[in-house]
Amino acid sequence: MTHNRFAHFDPLRLKINDLKLIFGNEDRGLLEELAGAARAVTRQYFGRVISLYAPLYISNYCRNRCVYCGFQAARTRVVRSKLTLSEIERECEALASTGIRSCLMLTGESRFHSPPSYIKEAVVIAGRYFPNVSLEVYALETEEYASLFHAGADGVTMFQETYDRERYDELHLAGPKKDYDYRYLAPGRMAEAGFRHLGMGPLLGLTEWHEEVPRFFAHVHSLEKDYPGVEYTLSFPRIRPVPADKGRYFEVNDRDMVKIVSVGRLLFPRAGINLSTRESPSFRDRIIEFGVTKMSAGSLTSVGGYADREKAQGDGQFEVHDPRSLVEIKEMLIKKGYDPVVTDWRNIAQA
Ligand code: SF4
Repeated sequence: MTHNRFAHFDPLRLKINDLKLIFGNEDRGLLEELAGAARAVTRQYFGRVISLYAPLYISNYCRNRCVYCGFQAARTRVVRSKLTLSEIERECEALASTGIRSCLMLTGESRFHSPPSYIKEAVVIAGRYFPNVSLEVYALETEEYASLFHAGADGVTMFQETYDRERYDELHLAGPKKDYDYRYLAPGRMAEAGFRHLGMGPLLGLTEWHEEVPRFFAHVHSLEKDYPGVEYTLSFPRIRPVPADKGRYFEVNDRDMVKIVSVGRLLFPRAGINLSTRESPSFRDRIIEFGVTKMSAGSLTSVGGYADREKAQGDGQFEVHDPRSLVEIKEMLIKKGYDPVVTDWRNIAQA
């Protein structure tokens, strides 16, 4: 197939149904066309603004057995830990002192170790330090999401990991996460509970990305129809296999990533697009041009690491590939002509 097939193709009218052809075409000219259109659409909707945030791990206990994850329940060598409420306070204070105003609070997926009541108390504490508190936790019931929303959380992120049901079953050996549908329907429950900021994404590399990404976009599209008042942030993390894992994974190279991010921007012009520190500094710096609007900065993935790096209490979930501090990321963005923003809104209920 050549680019000629797309002679009358208009990137601004892209539809999910076009993706089979687009993703199956390796033509460089097509990629450049998509990337150029994505860059223009991003400028139109977001200007040159990148929002910065940092993850904050409060627990790394997990009951699930996702074969691709170093944190899974069967890995007994992982040092598990959970912060007490006063340790959460200290951790929030330390992270906020770096200049971060937006935090993504994470727990491992263990209802026993991190029950909703614990997450709720953590949200209340974090709300004293950050104008924006988002969560990445296990799938909850609507009422539980509502109680976290009323405690002050602004958004929730949930990765479906893979939209291929068979592969999902094969990769999730045990634990509550094995229930595909319960997880798939979680963003709808979040929206029902009142959340207006939802983060979503597949974990790229678990299946063939040409098949995976269109299914992910179809999921976001159906939610947009059902919950039009919600703002969505799309993430495209690439898997980084853990050392002992002999799993079968699928390549997603840097060119593929440019295509995926560009197409995401064109299909969802108003959505946030997030780029995590799993990616290398040089790749992060290059790909922001094509649609990225959010980046984590100065990230640590161990429990309690901001307050005292020496005494970080548990193993980290993954190795951070971009170790730059908030100041260094801001400098890079300014040099590239971007406006780094740590907070762009305030909670009028507390004003
Ligand atoms: S991916 Fe999440 S739920 Fe799965 S084992 Fe790792 S920490 Fe647990």
